[in-house]
Amino acid sequence: MNSQETSSRQAIIEACLRMNAAGINQGTSGNISVRQQDYLLITPSGIAYEQLQPESITCLALQPGAVPQWQGPYPPSSEWRFHRDIMLARPEVHAVVHLHPVFCTALALNRRAIPACHYMVAAFGGEDVRCAGYALFGTAELSQQVLEALTARTACLMANHGMITLGESLEKALWRAVELEALAKQYVHALQLGTPVLLSAAEIAAALRQFVGYGLQTPPIPQALASNETRD
Ligand code: 13P
Ligand code: ZN
Repeated sequence: MNSQETSSRQAIIEACLRMNAAGINQGTSGNISVRQQDYLLITPSGIAYEQLQPESITCLALQPGAVPQWQGPYPPSSEWRFHRDIMLARPEVHAVVHLHPVFCTALALNRRAIPACHYMVAAFGGEDVRCAGYALFGTAELSQQVLEALTARTACLMANHGMITLGESLEKALWRAVELEALAKQYVHALQLGTPVLLSAAEIAAALRQFVGYGLQTPPIPQALASNETRD
């Protein structure tokens, strides 16, 4: 294991601990993967994050096929399939975060997308954050559904399940996870007050242009993840 891989493994563990401390995930319900050259590093299934050591992170071959080879003391996350399929389909993606945060999941239980209710929707690549159709966790069908919902986007909700964010780095995928849950919370509160006014196509196009070079610019873990504050 080279030093770059060791630091990727440590970054995954730190991210897992911080996302739970920040209140955007509970227990081991989330999972994280990070691309290496021809394989990916992924959290093992159902192991408490507090127990993870760098060597506990599972290595998974980045090749198509039903049963990939993996290495490590524990089997990969039950969601290895969509992590791997996203990495295969989207070469610009270097990290995938999957969580069950309360507000994103509340929308996903209603199978609702997040429309252009705030300019921050542009942080996820377009005019909305789609909600992928339902399929059983861990299946090829779920992988197909999320790949479709992620077309030209860096995030999606998942019907009756949770959400996914993508990043060119783990830091960026985590930043999007925090921002997506904040956006979902704002949208849910706005729905309780009335009917949120949506931005026009021109307004969203302007926000998308403004987003080039905007957003998280530096490597450190997002500030919101560094506090113990819960988000609801
Ligand atoms: P794992 O513990 O297998 O990663 O599963 C959590 C999960 O999110 C299933 O959808
Ligand atoms: Zn899940």
